Amino acid sequence: MISEFKNTAYLDYSVEANRQAMESALKQVEAQTAREYPLFIDGKDVRTGELLKSYNPCEKTQVLGTFHMAGRKEVDLAMQAALRAFESWRHVDPKERAIVIFKAAEIMRRRRHELSALMVLEAGKNWNEADGDTAEAIDFLEFYGREMLRYSDRQPLVPAAGEFVEQIYIPLGVGAVIPPWNFPLAILTGMTGAAIVAGNTVLLKPASDTPAIGYRLVEIFQEAGLPPGVLNYIPGSGSKIGDYLVAHPQTRFISFTGSKEVGLRINQLAATHSPGQIWVKRVIAEMGGKDAIVVDDTADLAAAVEGVALAAFGFQGQKCSACSRAIIHEKIYEEFVERLVARVRKITTGPVADRANWMGAVINASAQQKMLEYIAIGKREGQLVSGGEKGPEAGYFVMPTIFKDVAANARLSCEEIFGPVLAVTKAKDFEQALAFANATEYGLTGAVYTRDRDKIVLAKRDFHVGNLYINRKCTGALVGVNPFGGFNMSGTDSKAGGRDYLLLFLQAKAIAEKL
Ligand code: NDP
Repeated sequence: MISEFKNTAYLDYSVEANRQAMESALKQVEAQTAREYPLFIDGKDVRTGELLKSYNPCEKTQVLGTFHMAGRKEVDLAMQAALRAFESWRHVDPKERAIVIFKAAEIMRRRRHELSALMVLEAGKNWNEADGDTAEAIDFLEFYGREMLRYSDRQPLVPAAGEFVEQIYIPLGVGAVIPPWNFPLAILTGMTGAAIVAGNTVLLKPASDTPAIGYRLVEIFQEAGLPPGVLNYIPGSGSKIGDYLVAHPQTRFISFTGSKEVGLRINQLAATHSPGQIWVKRVIAEMGGKDAIVVDDTADLAAAVEGVALAAFGFQGQKCSACSRAIIHEKIYEEFVERLVARVRKITTGPVADRANWMGAVINASAQQKMLEYIAIGKREGQLVSGGEKGPEAGYFVMPTIFKDVAANARLSCEEIFGPVLAVTKAKDFEQALAFANATEYGLTGAVYTRDRDKIVLAKRDFHVGNLYINRKCTGALVGVNPFGGFNMSGTDSKAGGRDYLLLFLQAKAIAEKL
């Protein structure tokens, strides 16, 4: 009997033992910065000599590792290995496959501090954000393992006289898994774990900003006993090998999380038939967001201010679920802005290896540049009331920035900036606030703060987002509790961490035997 799924509890770093463990993990990770990482194909290390360095965004010059990069040749090599491995892995009893990923979860628990420390350094997550990422990765493995057991059970069908009927779920084939850098362990683990436990084999191309964390997953699965060729690790530039990987005639599915632009390109390429291809490729794409929090005049203002501050600036606003628009009822507008600015002034910004800093640097120089360009646009579209500049020069810092009086159709309100830049908009009533919130091509997360039951009912009906939160912030989805994924340009309507997700990596075979 397997125990019921439970979410992993977060660590409390005010507890001395946890703090010390994290500090020594940070030292341990920093001591490995000279390490060179190979590709991992068919259970073997592969070195190409084409190298990429990974850096700490909070300390621009600190190298965290050097990575061999895949080209087309290595994609082909990995594809052949994955095709071979698929012929046996697909037939492994789903229970055995689940055991491998449960073991991987156990290894992650053992390496928890190291994984989180690496995210502090490679992605610029503060300690709690990094721990949340590791906890979510563990949850994905535990959840999808149980889901595979559920799908491998006998499925309910309508009985037919004189026939024995069954429906079984079988894997798809070789998948390309292409994760982003912003949840460098959780999303990468979720996408990879789901594909593998379902019986597929994988070509994993990590995001170029966070390859060190991606490599840890490979080590973990190796230790958990995953057979060679089931998971092949091929870091490489998305623009160089991405198209080749997606268009490859033997790629059966693409599991992608990232920007709208890349997601749409993948969707288009995958829809084009390549010579020799014998299936319609499946694309699972989880894309961007322009998420809004609506604050009504009946709201608990203190809770709303806190919720907006955390959702807008947690992990520097670099979450697909981050609040990038606050839409506020005119009656409380000025008071809300004043209190929000006061709250945001308390945010500490600096290298997050130091636990005293809550906000770290943004991921890289081009992200910082893009944010500064949006800040310049914001100065034309609204009134700057907080931030609006770079932070300490040692890293790619952008101070938490708030613009008020931004129109609902301004660029700042419509385009995903993916950084600590918040647009605040005034609405004359709740209905207009909801209309503004929906006036975006995305539909990922949203929140509403109100004490009015009728408005809650209205928001539940009309706020068109995949993840709606009432009287709480719009970030922080939990596996199994808040199945995650959005509408419209936010993706292909999948729900990571939900009961439908594993189906995306499976196909159903219905069998009838005449008796
Ligand atoms: P990108 O779209 O830039 O990159 C995502 C991944 O795609 C990376 O591994 C990247 O590789 C790869 N890639 C780039 N070009 C191609 C290509 N032509 N073909 C195939 N793969 C390619 O997104 P970011 O990593 O910057 O992530 C941020 C985005 O992700 C935001 O838009 C955010 O909203 C979204 N996101 C959505 C989530 C959701 O659940 N809906 C969750 C988390 C993030 P490389 O790094 O080498 O360029």
